[in-house]
Amino acid sequence: MNPSLDQVRFGNRFVDTLPGDPSLDPWPREVRGAAWSPVKPTPVRAPKLLAWADEVGELLGVVRPAATGPAVDVLGGNRIPEGSRPFAACYGGHQFGVWAGQLGDGRAIVLGDVQGPGGRLEVQLKGAGPTPYSRTADGRAVLRSSIREFICSEAMFHLGVPTTRALSLVATGEPVVRDMFYDGNAEEEPGAVVARVAPSFVRFGNFELPASRRDLDLLRALADHVVTTHFPELGAPGADTYVAWFEEVCRRTAALVAHWMSVGFVHGVMNTDNLSILGLTIDYGPYGWLDAFDPDFTPNTTDYREGRYRWRQQGGVAHWNLARLARALAPLVGDTGIPRLEAVLDEYPGFFARAWRGRLSEKLGFAVAEGDDPLVGELFSTMAVAETDWSIVFRRLADVPAAGDRLAPLLDGFYAPPDDALKARWSAWLAAYAVRVGNTDPEARRARMNAANPWVLPRNWVVQEVIDAATAGDSAPIEALLQVLRRPFSEQPDHARLAGRRPEWARNKAGCSALSCSS
Ligand code: AMP
Ligand code: MG
Repeated sequence: MNPSLDQVRFGNRFVDTLPGDPSLDPWPREVRGAAWSPVKPTPVRAPKLLAWADEVGELLGVVRPAATGPAVDVLGGNRIPEGSRPFAACYGGHQFGVWAGQLGDGRAIVLGDVQGPGGRLEVQLKGAGPTPYSRTADGRAVLRSSIREFICSEAMFHLGVPTTRALSLVATGEPVVRDMFYDGNAEEEPGAVVARVAPSFVRFGNFELPASRRDLDLLRALADHVVTTHFPELGAPGADTYVAWFEEVCRRTAALVAHWMSVGFVHGVMNTDNLSILGLTIDYGPYGWLDAFDPDFTPNTTDYREGRYRWRQQGGVAHWNLARLARALAPLVGDTGIPRLEAVLDEYPGFFARAWRGRLSEKLGFAVAEGDDPLVGELFSTMAVAETDWSIVFRRLADVPAAGDRLAPLLDGFYAPPDDALKARWSAWLAAYAVRVGNTDPEARRARMNAANPWVLPRNWVVQEVIDAATAGDSAPIEALLQVLRRPFSEQPDHARLAGRRPEWARNKAGCSALSCSS
């Protein structure tokens, strides 16, 4: 039988290879010349396991623990496992387009890495207490946002989208004070810790900070660590390798964002400190999903005015973020390397367009080419005329018959019945679609489309029901929902309610339509 997490010996790849902060001072401060600061999680009153992801346990080669005990003490930050040298990473970032200077792990503490069947993976506790990077905040996380992160990380994985994983959700037994709407009404809420798992949590911002300080030694050390550890296929570090690495990051980021958009995901806070150097979805905060299709949708109340991170802008914003990364890496590649970084950056729109067309091809069931832009554009504009559910309409497109009433299968996706003019517009589009699809084998097309268009998603209202239950003391629905989300492309008639349109009660409810960064 596998050992329990508290019996595993941790390694410290990051700490062993990169310069650390010599100070043990836990208070907020500027940290220079170091990629990380040593910091221990702050113990919590009563750690209790609320949810566990078995697949992630298997990646690490550890068994599911009981609700309380030594493994849960590790997951709550009350016990440091053997070999672990806990640290918080030092990074900076551009937030909403503005350079924010040093940010760092303000409430995430990495315990170290575990060598298991899933390779060597870092285990990080989010909400584990203050670090030198907590600035004015408390280093804690509330239960509602921790449930959102736990469920969505795993749901993303099962959707096939690259992501950091979530091993566990632990209640701390301590309240956290939050002002959810930033309106002066702070309240106590239950606190929690999520154990996140990934090969690395390094972000674009890890490179931007030393570059902004002209700390070339640290910049190079970090780049070499990431390249040799996570991109060994690119060869030994050097100017050529850095350029090839940057290209790979561009490709992965383009593919990631196209994948998000295809399943209707809006990250909400695509700051450069929230973009993974491995091309993983990272930092689930005020994210959301398209219910009714609105290309300008953003779930993040902090971003309502500018709409910087709205659904349709994610591909472009990733490009902007990659330009910040290129600028940070420039000192490593020399004068002749800089035009090469720029040339790669100029290729990004092509990477993104190809990734997006690839996703659309799966969703629509035919090979979408540049010439199909008008057909796709008309689909999007028709969807945007009246509230039409992004996921349901795409899912049902696979059921549209070659002839006859083509609109009928789609009607479930309409938030109000379409009027005659809208019906006519849809019928015209569906006729053009039928022509474009031609006589491809309908069953093969259906299977292909059903493997790309999810039947169920962790929509905000779906997760909110679980949050409400857990806040009232019943955490069983968390894993019950995860169980449904393990097979997002399979129809599960017993759970049809979860796969339906957003219910009316969720339209303006906090957590369902609008979310703030106050987590
Ligand atoms: P985010 O927008 O959540 O990615 O966070 C931006 C920065 O704020 C990061 O440096 C976080 O570590 C930090 N941060 C967010 N929430 C907290 C908190 N409750 N305590 C300490 N630091 C935080
Ligand atoms: Mg973040």
